[in-house]
Order: sequence, then structure tokens, then C-alpha cells
Amino acid sequence: MEKRIDGATQLICLIGSPVKHSGSPLMHNFCFRHNDQNFAYMAFEVQEEDTAKALEALRLLGARGCNATMPCKTATAKAVDELSPAAQIIGACNTVVNENGKLIGHITDGTGFVCNLRENGVDVKDQKIVVIGAGGAATAIAVECALEGCKSLVIFNRTVSKAAAIAEKIEKAVPGCEVKAVSSEDKAALKEEILAADILINGTSIGMAPNVDATPVEDTSAFHEGLVVADAIYNPLETRLLREAKEAGCKIVTGDGMLLWQGAAAYKLWTGVEMPVEEFRKFKASL
Ligand code: NAP
Repeated sequence: MEKRIDGATQLICLIGSPVKHSGSPLMHNFCFRHNDQNFAYMAFEVQEEDTAKALEALRLLGARGCNATMPCKTATAKAVDELSPAAQIIGACNTVVNENGKLIGHITDGTGFVCNLRENGVDVKDQKIVVIGAGGAATAIAVECALEGCKSLVIFNRTVSKAAAIAEKIEKAVPGCEVKAVSSEDKAALKEEILAADILINGTSIGMAPNVDATPVEDTSAFHEGLVVADAIYNPLETRLLREAKEAGCKIVTGDGMLLWQGAAAYKLWTGVEMPVEEFRKFKASL
């Protein structure tokens, strides 16, 4: 029997579907054990229509909180009592903290992305940023970059109406940030904006396994010295976009750190202390 679990252990859950593949239980339980904290993390299969009921159950049981993954992220934002500024702009949550019966919703994907950049020596403040994509990951990234004080954001997406909707939300919430939405079919605009950018971010699934020969930037002539190119994709670790950017002399940042740091941000929200990131990295490498 797990010796750590006793009558005072506080539960933290993952809700969503599917959840069996998730690496979060391994990561959080290792870190609770390492820090000698009395929490336990369990994953539960929950469908979107049952999200509010699952959150009520967590409240009733006095759980410390949860992570919400697809398809429960938007329903979670609707069901909680209060939202963080980023979760309010985005309308989705991946982390819930139960503060004495009050459920506070956060989204840590964007924080995780920005922390990963910071760990790689890249600060988004006052930077000109191009984001490709307007799905869940790209939206969280764009909003966090704006909240962290980037100078400008140009959001390219195949479905340009989605990029425009995010741009409008950011413009309202962060008036100091210049935001523009452009169709990713406009290759000339993409080239021009990359030439003027400090940071280029891929938030689409273009280039993700098994389609590893795909890239969101076919014309790499705009890759320039000083440009940082970051990808949300972590499988493969080095996407075609990153490989070509590295060959052109750009600094590159892989997506695995985003995954780790979004978990670390949630860990801190629940426990109030830093997640032992280095220790977890060593543990994972030893498996
Ligand atoms: P999503 O909500 O489904 O969004 C997908 C995005 O990719 C949309 O912008 C979509 O454009 C675009 N896209 C997909 N296929 C395309 C194609 N063939 N041509 C042009 N655009 C295309 O997915 P998501 O959750 O944001 O995930 C996106 C990527 O980020 C995935 O690879 C995922 O693994 C990764 N991710 C990483 C982390 C991390 O922690 N590192 C976290 C979350 C996600 P439309 O809007 O036009 O459909």
C-alpha cells in the first residue's frame, strides 16, 4: 500500500477524455513524494457534458483541485466560480484550485510556454511576435505573450476568423499590445512579418508526428539572425520548422518544456511551492 496516503491526503485530479495516456499523474505524484507533500493525483475519464458534475463532486469531496484536458476545458471555465485574467480572455481552463469551496479556474498552457522561453534565455517583453495558429495552444500562447508585455502580435491562421476573434479579445484586454490577424494563406505577409519579428511561434499541429515532413513556413528565406523560433509541438522534439530554423542560424526552443512548465505552474497553484522540475527531469530520464 502507498504509505504516503493517509486520512489527511488531499486529492488532485485530471478530468477529460481520454486520460489514460497522460503523463501528469506520474509527474505530480513524483513531485509530491519528493517534496513530502500530502497530496495524491488521479486521472478520471470525464466527458464534456459531465464536467460541471465532476467539478461539483470535487468541491463536495474537498479535493484541492484538478487539471482539465480535452474536451472539458471550455466547460470547466463555465462551471468554476472565478477565472484568472488569462482564463477569462480565453474562456478555457486547464487548472482549477479549490479555495475553501470556491473553485478558481486558471490556464497554465501559455504560462508554461513563456516559462519555457525564459528558461531558454528568451524574454517576450517588448518583443515583436508572430504566432501561427489559433487553436487551443496558440490562443493560450498569444494571450500570455500579450499579458507579459510583448510589443506586438501577428496571428496567422488557416481559418482567419479564429485569429481575428483572438486578436479582438487581446486588443480589449491588453490595450498596449498591437495585434493583427492574417490568413496563413497570405505567404507574402507571412514572409514580411517573420522578417520584422523577434520571435516566431508555431502553435499549430503542422509538423506533428506522423506528418513530420510538414511545416507551417515553407519559404525559409525570412529566417534571420536574431530570430527565435519556438514550437508547441513536442513530438517530434525537433520539428522540420525548428530544424530549418536552426540551419538558418536561428535560436530554437522545443515544445517539451512547455508541457513541463504548464504542469509546474499548476503544481505551484495547488501547493504554493515550486515543483522540483530538475529532480523530475532526472527521474524521467532514468525510466
Ligand atoms: P487545435 O486546437 O486543434 O488547433 C490546431 C491548430 O492547427 C489550428 O490553428 C488549425 O487551424 C491548425 N492546423 C491544423 N492542421 C492544419 C493544416 N493542415 N493546415 C493549416 N493549419 C492547420 O490543437 P491544439 O490543442 O492547439 O494543439 C496544437 C499543437 O500544439 C499540437 O501539435 C499539440 O500537440 C501541441 N500542444 C503542445 C502543448 C505543450 O505543452 N507543448 C500543449 C498543447 C498543445 P484551423 O483553426 O484553421 O483549423
